[in-house]
Amino acid sequence: MQIKRAAVIGSGVMGSGIAAHFANAGIPVVLLDIPAKEGDDRSAIARGAIQKLLKADPAPFMHPKNAKLVTPGNLEDDLALLADVDWIVEAIVENPAVKADLYRRIDPVRKDGSVVSSNTSTIPLGVLVDGQSDAFRRDFLITHFFNPPRYMRLLEIVGGAATRPDALAAIADFCDRSLGKGVVHCKDTPGFIANRIGVYWIQTAINAAVDLGLTVEEADAIVGRPMGIPKTGVFGLVDLVGLDLMPHIAKSLLATLPGNDPYRAAFREHAVIAKMIADGYTGRKGKGGFYRLNRAGGAKVKEAIDLSTGEYRRSEKPRLESVSTAGRDLRALAEFPDRTGQYARRVLARTLAYAASLVPEIADSVVAVDEGMRLGYNWKQGPFELIDRLGTGWFADLCRSEGIPVPPLVEQAAGRPFYRVEDGKLQHLTTAGLYDTVVRPDGVLLLSDVKRASKPVWKNGSASLWDIGDGVLCVEFTSKMNALDGDIMAAYGKAIRLIGDGKGEWKALVVHNESDNFSVGANLGLALFALNVGLWPQIEELVEGGQRAYRALKHAPFPVVAAPSGLALGGGCEILLHSDHVQAHAETYMGLVEVGVGLIPAWGGCTEMLARHAANPKTPKGPMPAIAGAFETISLAKVAKSAAEAKDLLYLRPGDGITMNRDRLLADAKAKALELAANYTPPEKATYTLPGPNGRTALELFLEGFALQGKATPHDMVVCGKLAEVLTGGAKADVTQPVTEDQMLALERAAFMELVRTTGTIDRVEHMLTTGKPLRN
Ligand code: NAD
Repeated sequence: MQIKRAAVIGSGVMGSGIAAHFANAGIPVVLLDIPAKEGDDRSAIARGAIQKLLKADPAPFMHPKNAKLVTPGNLEDDLALLADVDWIVEAIVENPAVKADLYRRIDPVRKDGSVVSSNTSTIPLGVLVDGQSDAFRRDFLITHFFNPPRYMRLLEIVGGAATRPDALAAIADFCDRSLGKGVVHCKDTPGFIANRIGVYWIQTAINAAVDLGLTVEEADAIVGRPMGIPKTGVFGLVDLVGLDLMPHIAKSLLATLPGNDPYRAAFREHAVIAKMIADGYTGRKGKGGFYRLNRAGGAKVKEAIDLSTGEYRRSEKPRLESVSTAGRDLRALAEFPDRTGQYARRVLARTLAYAASLVPEIADSVVAVDEGMRLGYNWKQGPFELIDRLGTGWFADLCRSEGIPVPPLVEQAAGRPFYRVEDGKLQHLTTAGLYDTVVRPDGVLLLSDVKRASKPVWKNGSASLWDIGDGVLCVEFTSKMNALDGDIMAAYGKAIRLIGDGKGEWKALVVHNESDNFSVGANLGLALFALNVGLWPQIEELVEGGQRAYRALKHAPFPVVAAPSGLALGGGCEILLHSDHVQAHAETYMGLVEVGVGLIPAWGGCTEMLARHAANPKTPKGPMPAIAGAFETISLAKVAKSAAEAKDLLYLRPGDGITMNRDRLLADAKAKALELAANYTPPEKATYTLPGPNGRTALELFLEGFALQGKATPHDMVVCGKLAEVLTGGAKADVTQPVTEDQMLALERAAFMELVRTTGTIDRVEHMLTTGKPLRN
């Protein structure tokens, strides 16, 4: 079965977000809610929800135009719209009686064989289908999305005893490929995988912090980087999710969990937290939560709650000897002989033992549980991966010393790890106590699997080359934060030499890595060091080396396909601009942001953007419109907030591909590389017809207007003046003499080298490195 049209019922937080994400996948979707009690518009609730989606930050739509795919309606006048859809998602209030009543109303109108699923967080499937028709039971399942649906990768899916296997398979496949979700099959148990473990973990971490007298900052410093919740820790995470949501989830879990479940003993209402919720301190969406920014008195001061008094105080960055001594060694952290080590022991032992005790009750394998916690709670590693870091034998001893029963699965492991690599393949320990290969969904190719199974073809300090099969070579950045440097340029050179004419062992190159961010650009720290000691020839060589490398890639006799995800900024964006094809993950954020540090793109970025604007059929004729287009994008350092937006900004071309599921990105890129390699001719070198000083004057007039309105700072004028000079072809250009690609690159280089010597630019670079924000000088 194919999903061509969908409906979502319930236009609250989840329903509206799910509808937006259907639209992101290009699927027309009907969004229904109860009829409005007042006013003329009976569909005002769903319509209002769409308006709210358009204003929400982070944006639920990958492109504002996607809102047009969502048709609002109400459950009295528009029920007939359900007859056209292949899948109906129910996301109304968490109340079994209300849901049952809705199901009885939609069952007679829906199309034969259409699927109905509930987004319930806690109600068992058996309860939901009780009393419904046989056909309804066959077509019904649970699809549990996480908030916000566009950004959270986990989708828990549950089938019932009567659910058609083909319906389950079709929805799982659609969610994986079209919605980009990591689909995890769960058993029909309360809270499924992620909330079951996540809620217990949060409760345990809060209890332990209170009992051991830790501050929220101390607890987050331990749960954060060392345990793998780097961005928020546990209190920061509750602030993000909303403090007020926790009692609701707790209540419904307590209503459905087995009588002897350890969560019952762990559950505790903390008076300080109850008072925070009552006073509106519900987290980031409210007045603040465990942390808040206090703006009283003008300056922004970060404050944190004192867990013993419930009063806010200035937030302190804790310096914990345990954390700094242990580094990445989780066992050393848990062995540290102070109360922070005790905290680590208590939280790790209880949470991981709880998780281990739940297999096979909640899922068939440890792999599903780990995946659930990684994708649903943003843990860097799942519970079984964490147990492996501690060692299963050591962990069993920890349980004993903490007075917790050793989970049978851990007992059975008898010191063996839950994961091992055998013949280059990742294996996991099954509930039968044997090792089995971790099977990826059909068509998934992960660089991490390639890396487990082989040695790099070549590597240096900042990049590795990998054989990803069928004659395709992959370059992976390995530098800190994937910052670009001379070694990465050298890796390109090596790849070009290895692939040669593309007719030998290697046919094509893919540029890809599995980090959160593809690349945030050149290594600024290195650049600042060079600036401060005046290493001008070295800086110029880095610029020229980058230009040579990118140009060589562009004109190489074999295809280059880039497969980015996350941020691709500055030089990271320029790599993509030089590739024959970009296969972008839908969540790719591209931008030429050099102006923010007082520079212009000089690895060919100005030239490529000019070429794209000139080639765009929507650009009016004549040299100026293309120049103005490129000038606007680069001078405003525009960053696309999705791959779809990157197409609008011409960072991506109309023919570039978008992959919704990150795990499918490399396979898609490789397939495209092979397709291009079958009949490849490199692009010709371009020339540009540019107006020179006349055009530059026009752009400068425009800039002065900006300055007068206070929108451009004095150094913006200097930087954008240089940008205008480059894009108009320099001092000697006029429309009768085409400017070559080489000349354009020389102009980029010269402008860069001039800017880099100005104090305005040096101040910007320094400010960016120390604060992470652009300086408006
Ligand atoms: P919500 O309160 O934001 O929205 C519920 C919507 O249902 C509202 O728009 C309301 O008008 C509508 N509604 C109420 N009664 C109705 C009825 N009788 N018929 C039709 N519509 C009705 O709730 P939510 O947070 O979006 O949760 C919706 C579902 O998703 C629940 O089952 C919840 O457990 C689940 N869920 C929530 C989250 C979350 O983080 N909020 C995460 C995963 C799953």
